Amino acid sequence: MLIDTHCHLFMKPLCEDIEGVLKRAALKGISAIIVPAVETRSWKSIAELSEYPSVYTALGLHPWCADEALDTAMLGKLLVGTGSVAVGEIGLDFKIETPGRITQITVFRTQLDLAAELGLPVILHCRGAFDEMLSILSEKKYNGNVRGVVHAFTRGIQLAERFLDLGFYLAFGGAVTRPRAKRARSSAAAVPLRKIVLETDAPSIGMDGVEPGMMEPAHVARIAESLAMLRGISFDEITRETSRNAVDLFGIRDG
Ligand SMILES: [Zn+2]
Repeated sequence: MLIDTHCHLFMKPLCEDIEGVLKRAALKGISAIIVPAVETRSWKSIAELSEYPSVYTALGLHPWCADEALDTAMLGKLLVGTGSVAVGEIGLDFKIETPGRITQITVFRTQLDLAAELGLPVILHCRGAFDEMLSILSEKKYNGNVRGVVHAFTRGIQLAERFLDLGFYLAFGGAVTRPRAKRARSSAAAVPLRKIVLETDAPSIGMDGVEPGMMEPAHVARIAESLAMLRGISFDEITRETSRNAVDLFGIRDG
């Protein structure tokens, strides 16, 4: 059984054929899909998707949307009400100009506080802000109190180790299928298997042979195959171990 720990099922074209997407995923052995939020208005669509037995939800405000007024009380209520398995996706993206850094950091911290309060893991988005993010996560207040995963990890082993030292998991996606993604592939081959989960980030990020926008959860099987090859272990071991990790982190049922 495989678990796609990051798929935006509420986005087009996935939302136009939910039944088909879920059926194709089930045929490839994907037993659970975690759907993280982006903007505030995605929360409602995601809450509706939680009706599907294989769908698990995460709610939060993405750093790209940090300018939206975050209603923390409402977010907390919805996280509990929908039985969400994580706060996400949240984080820092300093490769964009707006929302500004201070706004992003404020919204990020508020949501880390909420995750700690509710005892939920976080799904982290980070671009161009690794030092800032690691320094926040290392604070006494968060270190040991907030667990989670760094999504779409493509960076080198040194950065990977800094997150591992804080107890975080790393999610690998389509990048590991690309022969030219040397850095992502060498990290995926080197980090402890116990700390790896799989994701597609569908529909946006493509992979070898699949255009961005065309990804869906079924493709997580190809990501697992590539990872098995990179690590020189069997497909079965990859599926078993990464699923166990996702079950441990998010507290979901497997199969
Ligand atoms: Zn995402």
